[in-house]
Amino acid sequence: MCGIVGYFGKHPVEDVLIKKLKLLEYRGYDSAGIAVKNHCYLKVTKAVGEISNLQSVVKPLDNAYLGIGHTRWATHGGPSHINAHPHRFGKTVLVHNGIIENYRELRHSLPHAQIISQTDTEIAAAIINEEYEKLADPIYAIRSATQKMKGSYAFGILFDDLPKKVFAA
Ligand code: GLU
Repeated sequence: MCGIVGYFGKHPVEDVLIKKLKLLEYRGYDSAGIAVKNHCYLKVTKAVGEISNLQSVVKPLDNAYLGIGHTRWATHGGPSHINAHPHRFGKTVLVHNGIIENYRELRHSLPHAQIISQTDTEIAAAIINEEYEKLADPIYAIRSATQKMKGSYAFGILFDDLPKKVFAA
């Protein structure tokens, strides 16, 4: 059971995300991560183990105003930095709670994709990104991608080129 949080606002984003993730600590987790965005950059920071480990490596991004965060309970691939969320694929940055049961099948539909983790989540990020490249609309892309997925999921999603939006599915 992991935790997912998202934030858009005026308070320091990293602090808000970490504080909210701490509220979900009781659910159990093996690693944690955040993705934050300002007008130019999207920055991902992750750490294995306690949220305090994440806290100690986070360096605030200037003028960040939105972000997503995650605590992971590994189901596909062991607890590691590479397997920790958020997963970034192309323009898509994803945090995920649940299991994508048909991730192997979906992986085969992406023969050229550079997948670096062992997670079902990175495949989901690649599928969402593929649909986003194709449809050029985030809502249609998320809808079309999730229709291809079997299993269970709660997603928090950012797109690199959409500066003011946090998506949830
Ligand atoms: N299946 C995903 C993974 O292993 C998400 C696990 C979770 O719900 O934290 O990374």
